[in-house]
Amino acid sequence: MLDPTAFVDVAHESGVAKRDPILVANGVVRRFGGLTAVDVNHFEVQRHTITALIGPNGAGKSTFFNLLTSFDQAQEGSGTFNGKPLRKVQPHKVARMGMVRTFQLTKALQGMTVMENMRLGAQQQPGESLLTAFVPPLWTKREKEITEQAHELLDRFKLYDKRDESAGVLSGGQRKLLEMARALMSKPEMVMLDEPMAGVNPALTESLLDHIIELKNEGMTVLFVEHDMHMVRRISDWVAVMAQGKLIAEGPSDVVMQNPAVQDAYLGEHHDTDLSEER
Ligand code: ADP
Ligand code: MG
Repeated sequence: MLDPTAFVDVAHESGVAKRDPILVANGVVRRFGGLTAVDVNHFEVQRHTITALIGPNGAGKSTFFNLLTSFDQAQEGSGTFNGKPLRKVQPHKVARMGMVRTFQLTKALQGMTVMENMRLGAQQQPGESLLTAFVPPLWTKREKEITEQAHELLDRFKLYDKRDESAGVLSGGQRKLLEMARALMSKPEMVMLDEPMAGVNPALTESLLDHIIELKNEGMTVLFVEHDMHMVRRISDWVAVMAQGKLIAEGPSDVVMQNPAVQDAYLGEHHDTDLSEER
């Protein structure tokens, strides 16, 4: 459930300060040659909420997402997670700080079994240390914990029966579920999802939405990049809109979608993203 006071007195404007931000970005600029892909003055993600990052194609969403998760480095500016600086922190260390992102199943990961993928996710846990790896009794205990945790998650994501199969045989939707389950192996505080619905068939869409809402109900914070407005409207507590590298609007979904600047940004793009209420 969303804390009803989470966005009380928070103005519907880009860059607005939140009551209890878990993630903060400041003056973040990323250029590719002469192109400024991202130029965000200030952005805060409120803890324990689901925030959507939307915007037309080429707006800079993926680039900003990569900067926030330390998979790319900005030329200017930086961010903090739980008040700790993210600048120059390696991606796996960001995961240990409590922020994890999903990953598409690459060829290599598809060649591994579902369980092997889950074990990989556990390597980012804060408790993973060399000591555990070198002291056999600790190692055995840890192995058992990881197996139990993986089984629980696979059960929850309806993948338990597939645990010994190669990840490559999973359907597109099941892969998305595995990506999410694997990310949860690190027991994160914040989960970052880049287009979680891409390639998922309608039959699995509802269950994916429910899983994302469940993450929030368990106390996690979610930031997701998404093109599907229907999904954005269904599960977001707060929506941030990017266009041409800048953050142009923030607020609840119905408010931002009525915003003329947001409508202009989408109109300028030659595709048919539907911002209207009926679908
Ligand atoms: P979005 O995810 O919103 O569609 P992106 O962040 O992928 O947008 O891209 C923003 C802009 O930056 C686009 O103009 C894109 O062509 C450019 N861009 C993204 N990544 C690179 C890169 N690695 N090299 C050069 N240009 C890039
Ligand atoms: Mg993108």
